[in-house]
Amino acid sequence: MRFNFASAVNCIDGRVQLPVIEYLKREAGVDFVDMITEPGVCAVLAENREEAVVAALKHKVELSIRRHGSRVVAVVGHHDCAACAKNRVEQEAALLAAGDTVRAWNPGTPVMLLWVGEDGIVSEVGLIPAN
Ligand SMILES: [Zn+2]
Repeated sequence: MRFNFASAVNCIDGRVQLPVIEYLKREAGVDFVDMITEPGVCAVLAENREEAVVAALKHKVELSIRRHGSRVVAVVGHHDCAACAKNRVEQEAALLAAGDTVRAWNPGTPVMLLWVGEDGIVSEVGLIPAN
């Protein structure tokens, strides 16, 4: 039996794991979400400076796509991030840049930009379609 997967490039924050998994299962129609975490990941990918960290994230996303046929990659920012002092507007700008970075790794896979608010509600900030 084949399962449908999505990938999520998410913060380590324990408050945002289940909301992102539940959102992707519901909105992307997947059975499972491969969770790839790094503190303040949207800022890390937007800045795209920490070469070793970025390379490790890229490897994990590619493994998820290659081995699980992941249909979509979500990149996530959230309220009250311990690793990213940016406010929501700044984080959403970082998410757009982070999404471009992730999309460039795998042009055939769409990238969904997600924000998790203080109430744990997930909203879609944008969608970068596949080529
Ligand atoms: Zn965080």
